[in-house]
Amino acid sequence: MTGGSRGIGAAVALRLAEEGADVALTYENSAERAAGVVEQIKAVGRRAVAVQADSAVPDRLTAAVEETVETFGRLDVLVNNAGVFLVGPLEDMRAEEIDRTLAVNVRAPLVASQAAARHMGQGGRIISIGSNVAERAVFPGMTLYAMSKTALVGMTKGLARELGPRGITVNLVHPGPTDTDANPADGPNASAIAGFTALGRYAAAPEIAATVAHLAGADAGYITGAVIAVDGGFTA
Ligand code: NDP
Repeated sequence: MTGGSRGIGAAVALRLAEEGADVALTYENSAERAAGVVEQIKAVGRRAVAVQADSAVPDRLTAAVEETVETFGRLDVLVNNAGVFLVGPLEDMRAEEIDRTLAVNVRAPLVASQAAARHMGQGGRIISIGSNVAERAVFPGMTLYAMSKTALVGMTKGLARELGPRGITVNLVHPGPTDTDANPADGPNASAIAGFTALGRYAAAPEIAATVAHLAGADAGYITGAVIAVDGGFTA
């Protein structure tokens, strides 16, 4: 999985391990935190490895997938989680920010899926983490981020059609506001953001991870090409 050192990704990595998976997780900068997640996974009796790989670099990302297959001998589930959240007014948006957002949030999930699909057999799973703002860009300043996450809807549906004949499912989870470093539940706009949900609160990262784990498991074998909101009613 990509981006497993913190936040939603760390929760997903741990939950998949609890369900019996060995886990390779990538990170960009947080070597220590990634090592901490690896230790937590080992503590539940599974194998784990942390791989430094900037998702914005396609060759590095592809190499990380290959390293994972070499380490574990197989690849059953890919979770595209790593994302950047660059927000701000239209007039301030710089070309580098647009490129970075598209590289990490859009190109990387496609490149990782391409690399992973080469190694997946019947029952393979590709699960990407989108965002509630793909459905409802509730504040100004979200244009670039919302655009990048909306691209994953098309990618998910296209891949579901391409990989369905091989028995591989492809799905997209749209989290709502989730308490992480990127969007802390005690941040300056948090109460306003929470107020847009039906439940009036942020998610805890394990609440997102639970749906990812379901999609990764055998019970979800007939779910593919789906976009599943885990957003506390943000888009209700
Ligand atoms: P965090 O910022 O808390 O964590 C991001 C994770 O992704 C880290 O592990 C980080 O690694 C990794 N990462 C970021 N950029 C790269 C990169 N270029 N290459 C490799 N790894 C990278 O984010 P969240 O947990 O909040 O978000 C996870 C996903 O969920 C994202 O796709 C985000 O868009 C989405 N999301 C989050 C919501 C929220 O409210 N939190 C709501 C809706 C969607 P490192 O630690 O090394 O930086």
